[in-house]
Amino acid sequence: MVWFVVSLVMIFTVVYLLSKLIKPRDPANKPDEIHFHQRVNKAENPEIMPYAMFAIGPTKEPCSRHADLRARIYLAGDPVFQDNPVRLDAYCKCRIRKVTEFELKKMEASGVQDSLATVLMSDKGLPTGRREKKLIPLEKAWDE
Ligand SMILES: [Zn+2]
Repeated sequence: MVWFVVSLVMIFTVVYLLSKLIKPRDPANKPDEIHFHQRVNKAENPEIMPYAMFAIGPTKEPCSRHADLRARIYLAGDPVFQDNPVRLDAYCKCRIRKVTEFELKKMEASGVQDSLATVLMSDKGLPTGRREKKLIPLEKAWDE
């Protein structure tokens, strides 16, 4: 009987010590996830990506909801992105593109490539998937 109790106590002690040694991995500390969240947060961080605009998707007919907004740039978090959600239906393949201060300065100076410019054709008359270079002036949606 005494041996039984002693061996039970020993087993519990060993199990307790092992549980202290083998710590379950905290999922918040997995390196992949840390990098994933950092990447997401970087894209969501208004200090790094302070502006956003609609990037028109490759549909046969230009997206009716976003085509007219293609040269407009907004402050990140502008309600326009909630009011004109992307990809509500198959006719919209647009996305929201985050823009940095540097890109804004560049686009202000040069204009934005018109995503609805004529598609370039190959020598055989087939669409190349590239568009004619056509820069249109950037419109800012806010007052400075
Ligand atoms: Zn669209």
